[in-house]
Parts: sequence; structure tokens; C-alpha cells
Amino acid sequence: MTGTLKGIAASDGIAIAKAYLMVDPDLSFEKKTITDVDAEINRLHDALEQSKKELTLIKAKAAENLGAEEAEVFEAHLTILSDPELIGNIEDKIKNDTINAEEATKEVTDNFIAMFEAMTDNAYMQERAADIRDVTKRLMSHLLGVELPNPALIDSEVIIVAHDLTPSDTAQLDRRYVKGFITDIGGRTSHSAIMSRTLEIPAVVGSEKATTSVKQGDMMIVDGLTGDALINPSDDEIKEYEQKSADFKAQKAEWEKLKNERTVSKDGVHFDLAANIGTPDDLQGVLDNGGEAVGLFRSEFLYMNASELPSEDQQFEAYKKVVEGMNGKQVVVRTMDIGGDKDLPYLPLPEEMNPFLGYRAIRISLDRTDLFRTQLRALLRASAYGKLAIMFPMIATVAEFKKARAIYDDERQKMIDAGTKVGEIQVGMMMEIPAAAMIADKLAKYVDFFSIGTNDLIQYSFAADRGNEKVSYLYQPYNPSLLRLIKQTIDASHAEGKWTGMCGEMAGDQIAVPILMGLGLDEFSMSATSILKTRSLMKKLSTDDMKKLAEKAITEAETNKDVIKLVEETVNNK
Ligand code: PEP
Ligand code: MG
Repeated sequence: MTGTLKGIAASDGIAIAKAYLMVDPDLSFEKKTITDVDAEINRLHDALEQSKKELTLIKAKAAENLGAEEAEVFEAHLTILSDPELIGNIEDKIKNDTINAEEATKEVTDNFIAMFEAMTDNAYMQERAADIRDVTKRLMSHLLGVELPNPALIDSEVIIVAHDLTPSDTAQLDRRYVKGFITDIGGRTSHSAIMSRTLEIPAVVGSEKATTSVKQGDMMIVDGLTGDALINPSDDEIKEYEQKSADFKAQKAEWEKLKNERTVSKDGVHFDLAANIGTPDDLQGVLDNGGEAVGLFRSEFLYMNASELPSEDQQFEAYKKVVEGMNGKQVVVRTMDIGGDKDLPYLPLPEEMNPFLGYRAIRISLDRTDLFRTQLRALLRASAYGKLAIMFPMIATVAEFKKARAIYDDERQKMIDAGTKVGEIQVGMMMEIPAAAMIADKLAKYVDFFSIGTNDLIQYSFAADRGNEKVSYLYQPYNPSLLRLIKQTIDASHAEGKWTGMCGEMAGDQIAVPILMGLGLDEFSMSATSILKTRSLMKKLSTDDMKKLAEKAITEAETNKDVIKLVEETVNNK
């Protein structure tokens, strides 16, 4: 088919390439009684051999494109496929119950998975359960003669089409070949969208029907600037978008000239433009885009990209690398923010009705203090190598902050007593829960700084899931209600001589930036790829004018739209 899909613009730029569908095939089957046991066991062995061949290829590609560590998981899968106990059990089931290989495989692997998953305090076994589940899927695909998507085997330019992409799927995409992506679900601040911006891959999310409208190999255009995606475009449309892509690249080249400049407004006021990162590998992007600090290191990505809990030493190395790489510029590391749309295969969380409102972030850290203390020790050790700050995610109450801070103080003291060198560390919190913003004045007495996490603050203020495209109209960063919470937070911190940053996506939003300048936000932390365009915008604006604009937005405007209009009128007159 041809046509245009409309989604949410998630990452700037234009991609033109063939579609690669990352959609799981139907793996359902019927239980059957069989008569020829040998033939059925042969079918099982054929499927095992094909799965091994495929995995060997994937492993080699992953090692080449993503690194030895990422390839390790496939080695674990290969070991499972050669496990005599597992295979023996499936063969026995086929023989004794005279059932088809699919059913025998399912029954045996379900048993193993249940057994491993029951060992809730053994992360290693939990991880094995996840591996067996993955391997079974592959084996089943070969038994049924259907193909699984294998993104690691992509070796030509593609646009990924998926229902959703988890952050770990996104991390495994090879940037040389993946030119863009489009998903059915998700919003501008879902983590797949955030990752696409970090990786500079043009993306459209929340299109609702990409996977049902696009066929494997269809030619596609993804416009990450508008949220449009064209299926099988005409030659004229391709030409038009090639031009649009060239214009965008030219604009980027203009911004790049500001790379080594400080960020100052027209009237000479300096603002810190920082970057958000997920792994030490993102550091190059920060430097290339002239980042003045790292305002948010989402440390949970270290946990998510590993196959088991990272040790204190592994974490220390990662934090040290970032702190040293920033050469004396501040790095704010957020302690583990697992839960919501970020999970760990080896630390399964209980099924919840509302994971974004449940057991997540600091709530896990305060419960699993063993994990929290390990992370804090790694951070304290890394603080000796540069300028490190720490913040806690999802703080709702003064008591939570005090508890987290007390654990931090305890680890710090122990380290000092043991003679380990630790640096000066500011300890702050993310402001992402409305209840906390309402008592910003109280919290400001205990923190060194606030960092406003608007991605969550907006979803909680408007009671609208950030990953649900059906309610994405409620992602209203400029609504006066939200601006008031932001103003209250900034003012409360300043009254106590502290500072406030913002690390939600709003900090790099070109409509929001003028207002935030007017509200006196001290630090703006965003996807590295948004830094230079924001620096360019700030240069044109004077803080006095922006103060007046912010005042109007907060007192006169009634809606998100009113504020957009106010900003456009003010900024276009500059
Ligand atoms: C936020 O909530 O705004 C934030 C920066 O954290 P995350 O997007 O990782 O939830
Ligand atoms: Mg958050």
C-alpha cells in the first residue's frame, strides 16, 4: 500500500529506507497425538540445529557490531540448546506421552522456567529463566517454520517498524544500518523516544498502526520533525524529502558553529546547557555537541544493558569514565530508576496494575538497600576523579529524601574512615511528583539542588501515562498548571540558596526554553542533540523580556495553547 501514517515526532531528522518489521510471528500451535515417535524426535533435532546455526550467526554479528559483552547472552542461549537434561526431557516427553514436539517443548521449558523463577532471591537463576524463555521462542519458530525478527542480522539500511521498542531493543540497534524507526505505541517521553534522540536516529512513535500497515521491505520515509511517515512514496515525494533532509543538515551545520561557545542570553546571562546520557558511550555525543555538563546520567541503563547486576567495581569504572571524560565539568548521576517502563530481566518485579505508580526508583532502593549501598559506594569512589553530583529519583516526601540521604551519609563516612578518597558531592533530588513540588520549600532545606523531571511530573500532574499515545494530548508542558509547579520549585530552591535544573525533555523544548529562562531555571539538561539549537535560541533572547513572558504565561494564560501563542508572538518579534 501507499499512504501516510501520522504519529508523534520523537527524534529530529529524515530517514529514507526499506522497512524492517520487528514483529513477533504467531507461535501458537495445537497439541497433537503422534504415531511416529522417531520422526517427531528428528523434527525436534532439525529445529535445534537450525536454532543453533542462527544463534551462532547472530552471536558473531553481535560481537562484531555491538561488542563481546552483548554477544555473551547468545552464548548462554547456545549452551541451553545443547543442554542434555533439557533435550533429554523433551525427547522423553515425546516418547512417553506420544505428543508433538511443540507441546513437549512447551511443557518441559515451562517447568524449567517456573522452577528458576521461583528462586526469587537468586538473580542468576532468574536470568536463566529469561534465557530459556527466549531460546524456546526461537526453537518454536523453527518447529513451526516461521521467522523471528533478528535485528542483529541487519546488514543494509533499514527503517525499523515495531509495535514498541524497549530501551534494550533500542540499544542493540546498529546505527550504521538503522536509519530511522517508527512504532505503534509510545509518546514523546517514552524511553524508546528518548534513546532515539540520544542515538540521533530520526523516529516517529505512537503511529498506532505502523506494524499493520507496513509490509516487510516496503520503501518508507520517516519524518522525525513532523511525525509523518510515508509508505511506498512516489519519486517526487522522495525528492521532496531528500531536499528537506538536506535543509535540516544545513541548519545543523549552522548550529554546530556554536559548539565551543558558552551559553549566554542576548543580555549576557549565562545558563548551563547540560546533556542527558544513558551510558558512558554517550559521552562523545555530549562533547561533540558542546555540552557544558552532564545533567542526568540515567544509571539504570548500566543495569539494563547487563545480563546480571553490575558489581560495585563495574559501576565504579563506568562512573569514573564519565566523570573523567567530562574533565572537571559536573556530572549528575541519578541513582537507579528501575520500574515503570524500565525493567531488568534478572530482577523481576511483581506484576502491577500501575507500574508507573508502583514499586520503582527510590522506592526500590530504600527497600533493597543492598543494591542501593553498592551503587552509592561506586559513586563515592568515582567522586575522587572529577565533579560528581548524585540525585535520587521519584522522591515524594521529606522522609524519603532524609532516609536516602542518611544511607548515603553512612556509606560516605565508612569510606572516609577506611581512608578512601572521596570528593565533594552535591546531593539532590529529582522533582517529578506533584506532591513533592507542593512542598518544595520544605525539601529545599535538605537538598543541595533540584532537577525537575518533567517527563514524569507531567504524567503525574495530568494523570496521563507518558507512553500511551491515546492520551498524548495531555502531555502539556506549557500548561500554566505545570508552569506554576516549576516556578514554585525554582523559587523555593533560590530562597534557600540552592539551584534548580531540569532534565526532563521539556528542558530542550524550543517553546518552553524562553519561559524557563524567564523563570530563572539555572541548568537545562537535554538530549545532547538539542543543545546547539537551544544555545542558538538563547543567544537571541534577553532575560528581562523572558521574565515578562513567563509572568504572563503563569498569570494570564489559561491553556497550553495560549502559552504557545504567547511564546510565538514574543520570540518571533525578536
Ligand atoms: C523525567 O521523568 O523527566 C526524567 C528525566 O526521568 P526519566 O525520563 O528517566 O523518567
Ligand atoms: Mg522520571
